[in-house]
Amino acid sequence: LDDEQDALTESGISVGRGEPLVVIKDVNKHFGELHVLKDINTTVNRGEVVVVIGPSGSGKSTLCRAVNRLETIDSGTITIDGKPLPEEGKALARLRSDVGMVFQSFNLFAHKTVLENVTLGPIKVRGLKRAEADKRAMELLDRVGVANQAKKMPNQLSGGQQQRVAIARSLAMNPKVILMDEPTSALDPEMINEVLDVMIGLAQDGMTMIVVTHEMGFARKAADRVLFMADGQVLEEAAPEDFFTNPRTDRAKDFLSKIL
Ligand code: ADP
Ligand code: MG
Repeated sequence: LDDEQDALTESGISVGRGEPLVVIKDVNKHFGELHVLKDINTTVNRGEVVVVIGPSGSGKSTLCRAVNRLETIDSGTITIDGKPLPEEGKALARLRSDVGMVFQSFNLFAHKTVLENVTLGPIKVRGLKRAEADKRAMELLDRVGVANQAKKMPNQLSGGQQQRVAIARSLAMNPKVILMDEPTSALDPEMINEVLDVMIGLAQDGMTMIVVTHEMGFARKAADRVLFMADGQVLEEAAPEDFFTNPRTDRAKDFLSKIL
């Protein structure tokens, strides 16, 4: 066993002692002329839930993608558990399994069953035996409330169910942190809560999470901190209650007046 492996709770979630897990330091990123991330600094401690909000185009997705190295950065550093993001190869594959990612658009493998979607990573990247991977996948599917859908293909499921499978798939890798980029934005309204409930459960179990969302109910219930981004900068960083009741910048006041 990897001696760096974290203690796991019964549900398989890494638990920690609140030390820095994701450290983002002086990060800058351009797309051509466009300066999309401007001197971003923040630290996410183990077990923390950080909600990132802000207007469209402010750089929220780019920041998430940079933490998973789906985007490169121009300057600054991002470390996960004290280690800089690897450039490529096996180390990068390993990083990607330590940093789970859930997208707005579910991104399930369309030609694999629900169960296979959850077992593929553990078998290929973590080297689990199929029987072991199946057992753990069924536990996770049960946990997100879709165990009875295991044999179906993704397109036979509702959007809310697919997104819960995507969360189970991400959990199956025992990630140290999960990034979620607007995980409920593509869902019909009646399905949003079933996904938020799963996310709240994860947060309560001590999962470290960075969640881009405009679901203020989730932020109030589950977030330790809110980061407000605009124009590539983190303009405010505060506890949810502080931020929602007492935003300091005009940008945040304006943004909140539109979404609340
Ligand atoms: P958000 O998620 O907050 O809406 P994004 O991080 O997606 O913001 O985008 C930030 C800015 O970067 C936007 O102006 C967007 O158009 C631009 N952008 C994002 N991805 C790319 C890309 N691959 N190439 C060029 N511009 C991009
Ligand atoms: Mg986005």
